[in-house]
Amino acid sequence: MNTEMFAARHIGITEKDLPKMLETIGTDTMDQLIHETIPDDIRLKKPLNLPEGISEHEFLSHVHELSKKNKVFKTYIGLGYHESLTPSVIKRNILENPGWYTAYTPYQAEIAQGRLEALLNFQTMVSDLTGMEIANASLLDESTAAAEAMTMLFDIRSRQQKKEGAVKFFVSEEILPQTLSLLQTRSEPLGIELVVGNHETFDFSEGFYGAMLQYPGKYGQVHDYANFVKTAKTHEIKVAVAADILSLALLTSPGEWGVDVVVGTTQRFGIPLGYGGPHAAFFATKNDYKRNIPGRIIGLTKDTDGNPALRMALQTREQHIKRDKATSNICTAQVLLAVMAGMYAVYHGPEGLKYIANKVHTHTRMLTKGLEGLGLEQLNSSYFDTILVRVKNVEKLKEIAVQNSINLNYVDADTVSISLNEAVSESDVKVLMYCFMKSLDIKNDISFAAEIDEVISGPSQRKTPFLEHEVFNSYHSETELMRYIKKLERKDLALNHSMISLGSCTMKLNAASEMLPLSWSNWGNIHPFVPLDQVEGYQDMLKSLESQLNEITGFAATSLQPNSGAQGEYAGLMTIRAYHESRGEGHRNICIIPASAHGTNPASAVMAGMKVVVTKTDDNGNIDVDDLKEKVELHSSNLAALMVTYPSTHGVFESSIIHITQLIHEHGGQVYMDGANMNAQVGLTNPATIGADVCHLNLHKTFAIPHGGGGPGVGPICVAEQLKPFLPTNPVIETGGEKAITAISAAPWGSSLVCLISYGYIKMLGAEGLTNSTKVAILNANYIKDRLKGSFDVLYTGERGRAAHEMIVDCRPFKTNGIEVVDIAKRLMDYGFHAPTVSFPVAGTLMIEPTESESLAELDRFCDAMIAIRAEIDETSSEDSNNVLKNAPHTLEMVTNDSWNFPYSRQKAAFPLSYVAENKFWPTVRRTDEAFGDRNLICTCTPIEAYMEA
Ligand SMILES: *Cc1c(COP(=O)(O)O)cnc(C)c1O
Repeated sequence: MNTEMFAARHIGITEKDLPKMLETIGTDTMDQLIHETIPDDIRLKKPLNLPEGISEHEFLSHVHELSKKNKVFKTYIGLGYHESLTPSVIKRNILENPGWYTAYTPYQAEIAQGRLEALLNFQTMVSDLTGMEIANASLLDESTAAAEAMTMLFDIRSRQQKKEGAVKFFVSEEILPQTLSLLQTRSEPLGIELVVGNHETFDFSEGFYGAMLQYPGKYGQVHDYANFVKTAKTHEIKVAVAADILSLALLTSPGEWGVDVVVGTTQRFGIPLGYGGPHAAFFATKNDYKRNIPGRIIGLTKDTDGNPALRMALQTREQHIKRDKATSNICTAQVLLAVMAGMYAVYHGPEGLKYIANKVHTHTRMLTKGLEGLGLEQLNSSYFDTILVRVKNVEKLKEIAVQNSINLNYVDADTVSISLNEAVSESDVKVLMYCFMKSLDIKNDISFAAEIDEVISGPSQRKTPFLEHEVFNSYHSETELMRYIKKLERKDLALNHSMISLGSCTMKLNAASEMLPLSWSNWGNIHPFVPLDQVEGYQDMLKSLESQLNEITGFAATSLQPNSGAQGEYAGLMTIRAYHESRGEGHRNICIIPASAHGTNPASAVMAGMKVVVTKTDDNGNIDVDDLKEKVELHSSNLAALMVTYPSTHGVFESSIIHITQLIHEHGGQVYMDGANMNAQVGLTNPATIGADVCHLNLHKTFAIPHGGGGPGVGPICVAEQLKPFLPTNPVIETGGEKAITAISAAPWGSSLVCLISYGYIKMLGAEGLTNSTKVAILNANYIKDRLKGSFDVLYTGERGRAAHEMIVDCRPFKTNGIEVVDIAKRLMDYGFHAPTVSFPVAGTLMIEPTESESLAELDRFCDAMIAIRAEIDETSSEDSNNVLKNAPHTLEMVTNDSWNFPYSRQKAAFPLSYVAENKFWPTVRRTDEAFGDRNLICTCTPIEAYMEA
């Protein structure tokens, strides 16, 4: 074996395994299998035009060299991004730990109590600091969170008599530029009218339903918004505030003014800048709006024994599941980053956060005093960490700053703003002073005034306590925090324990070599708005990744800006919208979507101002071409797009796809391909070949970015030539096409840091390794399908009986025994497995996707478990629900309890197959009660005693 070939490490199947597997599925060669799976007319004629793969060692030295082309300056640009210090204990035990970063979204609560608790901490931290009643478990970035606030408030107007027809939304001119751009993007298709202005002169007139303020303002001014909020309330205008989380340790919380929503980013709580992301944004609001909150909320409930247990609250209500009634499409969020930020608060506690905020503030005051001593004027009357300084010669100052590796925010010809942060020391302040002195030709020694005045005005000084809960006051030594992190980690099943065969989620290997560079400061410590000449390494990497993805999809251009698949869908549809408008066909607003589509598709279409028309699927799970034809003809003159997942969400390569895409084009529509299933295409076919015009790719599925327990994600869109001009830009650093739409996410290249992972994945595998990965993903799926034959029926297959890279197994027949699909999902936990995807896209089924990274031994263990469960189902009857499936999962506490009242043995409960014994994973709670938790919603850390009374 060539021990340097990455493909052999990434792909779990070896040459040796092939004969057995091919025999099981009844075919002679791998090529024959692929021939039977993918229709001939869409097969690529040539191999991918990508270089050969490189070894892990070569990749690491390559990215190391590349990183040297990034210049790490001391950056005081601010604008929502600040250098922060990741505590090493968090970096090592969470960011660099597959136990945390390879976990999936915590849908299976019984094996996810660890990250659920970490997220509850995050929510509590956000609620406390913002002064709000309820917070979600993260959004994608501050600007998209602000857009979510704008649309949520728009949506709840219907509850306010006076606001029925109000469409105006006031935005303070002190809003961050990227947030303003996002609000523009998101408001326009919905008919929301943005009015940007000064909050002090705002007239609160009838037509406004809401307002958005920035706290502190983009150049650092701290306003007391109490009166604004009060007046807004009397006019029934709802108020949202975008707030800096660290400043809230010292500043009056927006909740105390009575605002409706507070959003922001937690980046400065220990998350690397990463040239734009990923970072966790937050969204906090009033209990009144709990059913309208975008994203996921973690809440407390109880398990079968009445013990407290956490789970995603109101979870089936996740916004996008409302399909075309949704007001948000958020699915993947920023769990890993939220876990880290929450842990930062756990580690520092309220006193630590105050210390950090005070340190930042004190340095800012020192700098101000010093600059004033030089005769410069500082313009903010009240500030936290950012000052606005009038200077005489910006160009000269800039030149000197650059010589000293410093970035400031050059506002205009005679003002700069300077934002300080946790990583700034007194000597850094001196260097800043030195730059100003040199620009003024002053040669004195630098000295600081001993006395520094208070500059946060009285009403803005925080007087309320925060983070009083025990969890924020217990783990301040490294030993304690390390053990707390480990305690939580042990409750969660991640890829470092066993296969997670979630259909449509592609839980493949996230290789250590792909992950390592994320920890290097030449990648981590770079602000997204630095000049391009400081980020040659990043630009090289991002441009290469874009062209790799162009080659893989067959398209002309890529935008890396979207931070998730759903955001990619939205971005893609917005480019389609802009394309139609550019041709004078802005009336085209019909988006046809198959009934089996992921819920984010219709939600994204509605957000893009389109009307959803649902088309049927036939008995074989394919798009019903006759029905589609009828709908296309009916809507011909208004047809904007078809959204189609390929291979379909049913796990099938539909052979009529080319016919379908042609039909859409004939009627003037564009074809959007949902790329969640790209793992079945890479190197064998591509979206351009099937006739699509744009697709998103989930880099956190096909391209090896870990799921992080529910984020981060990256959802780039790749487009055909005609859509290229409309790719999104950024208001600070220009990106995208020549007729670019406004921003889709806050940072110019989205979550640049984790793009390194996909870049490494493609580079190390090379053309052949990528193609082989696809083939093996298809092989593994078909192997499972045939091993389960006789035990489970597979719902859909292609014309020649093959599955693509995943398959749907039917669990509905077991209802006659009283067994539901969730019982099987929970019973799999006793066997050490995470359930496949439950009830998507068909209720009562499991969708299994093994990926190429699993070994034959692991595939067999999974199949053995499924077959054993099938036998257990045969032992059950609908008359008696006291059985091993209904009682699953079984906890250690149950099995070791002195009393055992179940009609099967303890061994059968917990060690049903021999392999389980040597690698037992214990669910830490019994089955969670969804309904109870939703009725008694508790979404912050609450003393267990309070819960017990409820
Ligand atoms: C995962 C998925 C999405 C959404 O992607 P996110 O990154 O979670 O927003 C959309 N469509 C399909 C078919 C998916 O599987």
